[in-house]
Amino acid sequence: MPASPDGTAESLSKIDRIEGRNPAGKVEWYTRRPPAPAGGGAAMKLDGRIAFITGAGSGLGAAIAALFAKEGARVIVNDVKREAAEATVASLGSAREQACALAADVSDSASVRAMFAEVAKRFGGLDILVNNAGIGETGNRRDEINRKGEAQLGEMMAGGKIQTHWDITVSLSDEEWHRMIGVHLNGTFYCTREALKLMAPKNKGSIINMSSVAGLHGIPIAAHYGAAKAGILGLTRSVAQEMASRNIRVNAICPGWIETAMTENFSPVMKATLTSRVPLLRWGKPEEVAATALFLASDDSSYFTGQWLSPNGGLFIA
Ligand code: NAP
Repeated sequence: MPASPDGTAESLSKIDRIEGRNPAGKVEWYTRRPPAPAGGGAAMKLDGRIAFITGAGSGLGAAIAALFAKEGARVIVNDVKREAAEATVASLGSAREQACALAADVSDSASVRAMFAEVAKRFGGLDILVNNAGIGETGNRRDEINRKGEAQLGEMMAGGKIQTHWDITVSLSDEEWHRMIGVHLNGTFYCTREALKLMAPKNKGSIINMSSVAGLHGIPIAAHYGAAKAGILGLTRSVAQEMASRNIRVNAICPGWIETAMTENFSPVMKATLTSRVPLLRWGKPEEVAATALFLASDDSSYFTGQWLSPNGGLFIA
């Protein structure tokens, strides 16, 4: 075998090595490399993949849609509010031509089925599902939480006994409980079931479920939220094992405190108290969670399944 002009042919693998002749007929060795993308940037991680993101009309879902589109995915944006889904699509720049907005309440099984039938019709398959749609505490709980949290802080600083107790669960209504489980856990199941039907024929796919630190270690202000998010982790682990032989990977993200509409109504005192428990001493940004979602959606995480990743600033360290 002739040596390459720079003497490196022996060390190149068969895949990397191409034998060729220069215009003078002399044998030369070339190195095969992936074509550089236009503009000289890095290759796009989701080029041509079809990605469905629920609750992408705002917050984390909107940030994930933007990043996935930037990485070459054809993005399907779901939200319970049509205008919110359409606004996200409109914000995608030139990628919006490959994207579409589909409105549906993920807690409604029939609506989810109809929505995925539309996906099958328009896109003919699915590569990535992000089960992200969610709600915070139900009803007017945020006012109650701010009031009780500030009272507890005052009692602690006064050095006395805690007189104010969270006592949320005792007043949770059946409706609050069912709504919370319905959107998060039922919604994740309904969308996963339909997505699997589209992924199975290709024996390939990535499903990403939005859980929370609350699902890992609990949360004293919303037991129904903590239960729903822990349930999502259980579903993630089981479906990951079930679908592994089809190379459909299922993972979860457990964010800590992230700046979105869901978390914006804490009082300044409550927010400072919550922030003081985060080692990085700040809340995360939606883009920081989107980066985790991109990792799990792309081939960079090809050996990850049944796992959770937690962008949380050190709030929870396992
Ligand atoms: P967000 O800004 O409120 O976004 C959630 C989106 O989901 C909203 O557009 C919401 O619409 C939509 N949605 C609600 N119910 C729906 C349903 N039944 N069907 C379809 N769409 C629905 O909140 P976010 O912070 O981005 O939350 C995204 C996910 O991350 C949630 O699962 C949340 O639990 C999780 N998470 C958030 C944090 C955080 O600190 N922000 C931390 C851990 C986990 P409406 O606005 O009309 O309700």
